[in-house]
Amino acid sequence: MKFIYSISEPKIKSETSYWFAFKNNELLVNTINGSPIIPMINSLEDIGLEPVRRQYLGTYNEIDCYSAELDSDVKLSSDFKLMNLRSLIGQIDEEIFLIAGKAFQIKNWDANNQFCGRCGAKLNIKNNERAKECPQCSLIIYPRISPAVIVAIVNDGKILLANSRRFNSDFYSVLAGFVEAGETFEECVAREIREEVNIEVKNVKYFGNQPWPFPDSLMVAFTAEYSSGVITPDGEEIIDAQWFSANSLPNLPGKWSIARRLVEWFVTNNLQN
Ligand SMILES: [Zn+2]
Repeated sequence: MKFIYSISEPKIKSETSYWFAFKNNELLVNTINGSPIIPMINSLEDIGLEPVRRQYLGTYNEIDCYSAELDSDVKLSSDFKLMNLRSLIGQIDEEIFLIAGKAFQIKNWDANNQFCGRCGAKLNIKNNERAKECPQCSLIIYPRISPAVIVAIVNDGKILLANSRRFNSDFYSVLAGFVEAGETFEECVAREIREEVNIEVKNVKYFGNQPWPFPDSLMVAFTAEYSSGVITPDGEEIIDAQWFSANSLPNLPGKWSIARRLVEWFVTNNLQN
């Protein structure tokens, strides 16, 4: 990826810039040629828009990138439309989507942290790092990132996949859950699996990670081996969970997700010819 992170605008800017402008969860895209593309313009004012707030993100292939927050009653010309960020998965280039996710998180952090949560004073932007600082009590607020574990559990050539209430769909995926304060990733893996399906695992190994901006997760993926217990879905979050073999898999999550990459890793290692 050719994205270079920066918090300060360069003195000499690129001729045009990528503008990742949001109205709530929707991203501004140009649809002049059918498929959505991120506007490449000098400024949002050039297309008649006035952002509420804007943030410099860095450069992508040496082109400046900005995130911005649009007014709730923004009026767009017919060349542009607003599309839900999640709906753009698979519709725009994957590298551009990653920058859009970054832009979404920075925009939300800026919008959601106008005032100090401790003393109520108006926060100032810190100029040497991506943070805000309270002029009264010195509290520093960074963009929030919520780490979550996601785990492929394998048992005798089968993988544990579950249908969760939060999917709102019939697909099955690997188990996942947020890291609690003071917890290691390995402790989190063991606790989440125990809570959700009441089994124990061993040999927890790091697999990879993926930023997931809905709203501010960092998915950290692991593989693990089944150790003991009988699958018992908690009935709250997990509706059903079963062991599946590589040649009889249920409906799976979308291609870009690290969940899907975990399942593909399992299939590669377990498909019998
Ligand atoms: Zn304060």
